This record gives sequence, structure tokens and C-alpha cells, in this order.
Amino acid sequence: MRERSHWGWGFKDRFPDREARTGIAAHASALLGFSAQEVLDPVPLEQIELREPAVAPPGDLVEILSADREDRALHSYGRSYRDVVTGFSGDYRRAPDWVAHPTSEDEIERILEWAGEDQLAVIPYGGGTSVVRGVERPLEGAHRGAISLDLSRLDRVLDLEETSRAARIQAGATGPVLEAQLQARGLTLRHYPQSYEHSTLGGWIATRAGGHYATLRTRIDDFVESVRMISPAGVWQTRRLPASGAGPDPDRIVLGSEGTLGVITEAWVRVSERPRWRARATLHFEHLYRSAEAARRIVQAGLHPANCRILDPLEAELNSVSSSKRAVLILAFESADHAVDVLLGRAIEIARDAGGELPDPPRISGPEGRAEGGEADRWREAFFSAPYLQNVLVSAGVIADTFETACTWDRFQELHAGVIAAVEKALAWSCGVGKVTCRITHVYPDGLAPYFTFLAPAKRGSEISQWTDIKAAASDAILAHGGTITHHHAVGRLHRPWYDRERPELFATALRAVKRALDPLGILNPGVLIDP
Ligand SMILES: Cc1cc2nc3c(=O)[nH]c(=O)nc-3n(C[C@H](O)[C@H](O)[C@H](O)COP(=O)(O)OP(=O)(O)OC[C@H]3O[C@@H](n4cnc5c(N)ncnc54)[C@H](O)[C@@H]3O)c2cc1C
Repeated sequence: MRERSHWGWGFKDRFPDREARTGIAAHASALLGFSAQEVLDPVPLEQIELREPAVAPPGDLVEILSADREDRALHSYGRSYRDVVTGFSGDYRRAPDWVAHPTSEDEIERILEWAGEDQLAVIPYGGGTSVVRGVERPLEGAHRGAISLDLSRLDRVLDLEETSRAARIQAGATGPVLEAQLQARGLTLRHYPQSYEHSTLGGWIATRAGGHYATLRTRIDDFVESVRMISPAGVWQTRRLPASGAGPDPDRIVLGSEGTLGVITEAWVRVSERPRWRARATLHFEHLYRSAEAARRIVQAGLHPANCRILDPLEAELNSVSSSKRAVLILAFESADHAVDVLLGRAIEIARDAGGELPDPPRISGPEGRAEGGEADRWREAFFSAPYLQNVLVSAGVIADTFETACTWDRFQELHAGVIAAVEKALAWSCGVGKVTCRITHVYPDGLAPYFTFLAPAKRGSEISQWTDIKAAASDAILAHGGTITHHHAVGRLHRPWYDRERPELFATALRAVKRALDPLGILNPGVLIDP
């Protein structure tokens, strides 16, 4: 088993040594136009302070509970910039008292019972990749202690129903673990968030995660056929249906519930055959807005590219995709059944009409093999290694984080300009200098999902207050200009103030009533999404 880093993204063995980090930091400085700092090492696990567990567990649960130092550290935080800096500096005040590793629903029910009796907070934990403070224990409130309830031992594909193309999968399966089981049968879930390597089906459902694909089934919502959740009040099991008009949808209460209503244990999800025909191309544009216009026309023409990702010039350069100083539109179509070059051809025509230039010929491939290389592959590589780079940047005193939103097409230019201006102002004020970039991750006939990255020099010891200022400026600007506080990163504790402004007050009242019905003692993930 490869070991995960207790403080940073991903596997321990992917954190480079000091010399390599110094080299990476120098390269980043040259690209960013400000200096990284001397690289530091994280506080070693043996030196972090952990308080003694506040409560003793009942005898029948001892075997599935751990108070191991590394286990508690790993389960203390998610993996946003703020979390990584906190773990790097050795601050583990939020470590849970116990980490539970149940192997059955019966064990989950017993943990919930114990928590109810002893007034403990229970924090469902999938892969711990939350970027919104979704898996932290609360430090305030009436709870006497906290249990991190880790679903990773429930990671099997339990059933495949090939006629309807659906699979019943346990909630703790990570992307690679569930894909390996599906692939053995020639099938795929085809849902690839950037955190795919470590995040889980249950986490995706609980946060309404967004995958890599730009159109059609963009978010896990679109894959869920039915769910099973264990709440303190009992079992919430919905029926397998392709669609239903029978009142408000019970699956939709679970989707986005962020561990506050129950523990998702399994779901039936829609699977498909693995794509074999592919066609892709990249186009360059004078300006981000021209490329967005092209994407709008493509998706409104009824075309559904698997990838329709736009990078602004700086984003393209920082990710080593292109140094043309132009916006880049990456287009890709794929199918398990038929050739897709005609679809790509039409999308290219539309993009050219909107001002796009095609620097290289399209890459077309069929069942005999995949066409490798090019800007799209360079993007893919950068996309999946970016979280590892963030670990290095933290060690080199660089603030590096992302945030995202969605808005309708008519608001896009205003939102983009407003957010960039607000973040640049906040970067100048709190860091002196810094960069902010934008890419478009998902497109819909009526709108799009812009995704921003900011990078700036940190003042060591004040990183979190600098970051908090930038994040608040960005979130205020998003709401002011017609966006949502999140298209797919979820609410957690971090986005609560903006989520509270975004949702109708009566909806909040209704949600509180649901919370009281399912979790009457308020033990599940207190502070996330809603106050009891
Ligand atoms: C580098 C990086 C890249 C990311 N990329 C993406 C992306 O492309 N798309 C995207 O949508 N998000 C992304 N995220 C955010 C994060 O990966 C998602 O929110 C993901 O869905 C969380 O899954 P998880 O299994 O890690 O859940 P966790 O982080 O463990 O938990 C997230 C929330 O869900 C709850 N929860 C988890 N499992 C269950 C369960 N079984 N039952 C009930 N509640 C549960 C938790 O209590 C918590 O509130 C990224 C994060 C990082 C660090």
C-alpha cells in the first residue's frame, strides 16, 4: 500500500526532496514574476502535538476505531491551500479523537448510536479531499469529542446490471478502485474530478462533484440512479429509476448533503461502455471572451464535446500548454459506438467563425489506438499533477489556490472582469504582487463554469490571513456579479457565509426541518451547510 501524506495532497513518495523543490521553485519564480522563498520542510509527524482522545469507546467498537497518530493527523483536514498550510506548519488542533474504519452498515449504525449517547460529532470521511473545510471537527459547540468516520473499507462494486447499464457501488471506493472493477467488465463510470485519485463515490455524491467532461453528464448528480444512506433516524433507500415525476426527488436531498444528514453507504450509478473513437483539436483566440463565444455557439448548436475547456493565455502558459499568449480552446469528442470526426469538424467550423485559429491538424483515433501528444495531452498531464505542485509551492512560500463558480452566458464578461479586478486588488493589498488566471471547465446551453487560480508570495506565518482576504474578495465578487459560490467544490464550513446569502431563506428553514428529522441530536458534521 502506498502511503498518503498526512499534511499534503496525495502520496508521500510524490513529495520531492529539498533540492528538487528548490529547482521547481526557481522555475515557478521565473514564470510568475515574483520570487519563491527558501524551501522548508513540513513539521514531522512525530513532532506534532495531539491531545488525548476525550472519550473512551465502547468495547464492541474498539476493533474498528483508531487513535493512531498518523491516522488522526491524516483525518484532521481536507486538502485546500489553507488545509495544506495548516498541516505543513504542524497545527493539528482539529484532529478527531477517533478514526472509525467500519466494514459494514451495522458498524456504522453502532457508531452513530455511540455518538448520540455520548454527544460526539461524527464527520463522514471519503477521501478527505474537501476544499471547503468539509471534514474538520468543530472546535466550538456542545460536542464532547469527534469521530472521523472513514468509508474506505467499503469500496466494492457490488452489482452490475448490464441491460440497463448500471452498477451498485459502495461509497468508499475511490476513482481508480471503482474504475478498475468496472473496467474488468469493459465499463466505466466516466467521472473524473481532478481529485479522482483519492476522492470517493460517497464524497462525490455528498458534494455534488464535477468531473472532467465539459458537457452532458458533467456532475455526479447526472449519474446517480438511486442512493442508500444510514442516518441516525434510520435508512434512506431510494428506488432505481431512470427518471420519475413522483414529487420532489429523494435522491436530491442526499446529493449535496455534505455528511450532515446521514452516511451514504452505496449508490446505483449509470455506467457506460468505454469510448473507442476520439477526435480532438485545439484552437487559439485573441481573447478569452472570443473563445467563450465559440464555446457558447458550439454547445448551443446541440454539439456535446466531451472536452470544451478554455484556458486564458496565462493559464495556458503556466500549465505548459502553449506560450502563444492567446486563449486556448481544447475540443474533444468521444464515443463507444461511432466515429466522431464529423462532429469535431462542425465544432471547428463554428469556432473558426468566432475567430479561432487551428495551429495543428485535429487528432483522430479509432478502436485501433489512441492518438497521443499535443496541447490537449499537455493540459491533461498538468491538470492531474497540479495538486502535487501545490505541495511544493507551499513549502516554497507561495500561496496557490483555486476557486470556481457558474453563471449564465449573459453575465459572463461582467463576472469575469469583476472577479479578476477584485482578486487583483486583494493580491496587491495583502501580498504586494500576484497573478490570477481563468479557465472555463464546463459549458451548458445557458451558461458556463469559470474556474480561477491565484498565485502570490506568502508572508510566512501570515499565509492564512492573506489567503482569507483574497478568498473573501473573490467570493464577494462572485455573488455581486451573478455567480454561485460553487459550481462543484461544495459549501462545507468555508463557503457558508456566501451560501447563506445565496439560498432562499425559506429553503434554509425547510432544510433545517429535514436535518432535525434525520439527525435529531445534531451529531452529523456540525457547522457544515446548515445550523441545526
Ligand atoms: C486537488 C483537488 C482537486 C479537486 N478537484 C475537484 C474536481 O475536479 N471536481 C470536484 O467536484 N471537486 C474537486 N475537488 C474537491 C473534492 O475532491 C470533492 O469535493 C470530492 O467530491 C470530495 O470527495 P471525498 O471522497 O474526498 O470526500 P471528503 O473530502 O472526504 O468529504 C467531502 C464532504 O462529503 C462528506 N462525505 C464524504 N463521504 C461521505 C459519505 N459516504 N456519506 C456522507 N457524507 C460524506 C464529508 O463529510 C464532507 O462534508 C478537488 C479537491 C482537491 C484537493
